[in-house]
Amino acid sequence: MKKHNFSAGPCALPQEVLAKASQAVVELDDSGLSLVEISHRSAAFVRIMENARSLALELLGLDGKGYHALFLQGGASLEFLMVAYNMLEKKAGYINTGTWSAKAIKEAKLFGEIDEVASSKNENYNYIPKGYTIPADLDYLHLTSNNTIFGTQFKEFPKTAAPLVCDMSSDIFSRQIDFSQFGLIYAGAQKNMGPAGTTLVVVREDILGKVSRNIPSMLDYQVHIGKDSMFNTPPVFAVYTSMLTLEWLKNLGGISAIEEINDKKAQLIYSEIDLNPVFKGYAKKEDRSTMNATFDLTDGKLKEPFEKMCREANINGINGHRSVGGYRASMYNALSLESVGVLVDIMSEMERKA
Ligand SMILES: *Cc1c(COP(=O)(O)O)cnc(C)c1O
Repeated sequence: MKKHNFSAGPCALPQEVLAKASQAVVELDDSGLSLVEISHRSAAFVRIMENARSLALELLGLDGKGYHALFLQGGASLEFLMVAYNMLEKKAGYINTGTWSAKAIKEAKLFGEIDEVASSKNENYNYIPKGYTIPADLDYLHLTSNNTIFGTQFKEFPKTAAPLVCDMSSDIFSRQIDFSQFGLIYAGAQKNMGPAGTTLVVVREDILGKVSRNIPSMLDYQVHIGKDSMFNTPPVFAVYTSMLTLEWLKNLGGISAIEEINDKKAQLIYSEIDLNPVFKGYAKKEDRSTMNATFDLTDGKLKEPFEKMCREANINGINGHRSVGGYRASMYNALSLESVGVLVDIMSEMERKA
């Protein structure tokens, strides 16, 4: 039986996407060949790459606005340094909202001065900083839209003249935002789009080409743009599966349609956390993530019975990250409202038993 997959990443993908992707590994569209044995220069794969790139821009509402979509490798973690390599000349600003932001800062420091404009480290990242001043002389300002580990999410984004760079690994395609406020967006596929192995980078071309250092070809966004994301052999399976998820999302009605469902899922779990005395939330209410709900039991003695009930109900992956403890229910696009219902039923059952 298929489990209710609350894993933080790699995470749930739509069942129909998994079925089509596995079929393509055996044979791609009656071609007599597997997806993973055809040339990436073949007409069939070039079409897949083009389709994936244009679907990404279309769903984000960015087509015809000077943006390019790239499917690169190395995960979001490589983008931590690639962003700085391509864009940091003197000084960049970073908002530190958790483990992933801190890792991005560490890498960027190898390339220039980093101004940590704001941080929520003082309360173990349970909120999104507000009311800070952004220096005027930044090459770019970097933020992490959704903090996967701590369960916080930016609801509004800072306004600044410098290009905004955003790590959206764990909430891209989950909610409607004016994506044109960003100069560069990156997201590892394995949270909300596909299997691990590719990273979506969406970049407005005019913000590139401004640093004086030489950039190795594989790390140069302009090289990848010039080669339509096919500078070297792309991760064909990850790109194809991501394309299928983007098609699935488009057929569902796009980001606005999935956002409605995501809001319902978040509402369901957070109202249970707030009303049920057996549970308490981790993130500040106004900054709660619709993707990752972090919470804990108020009484440690209930740990065993709660976890046993979860196991028996086929719930997978709700243990919290070690830096927060407790539980984390990750509710990415492919996780159904019904699955959240199963978890919430167990939570209310715990209250009756306590
Ligand atoms: C998972 C995650 C990452 C790391 O992604 P990799 O592809 O494993 O490098 C970076 N940022 C955020 C916000 C994440 O959730």
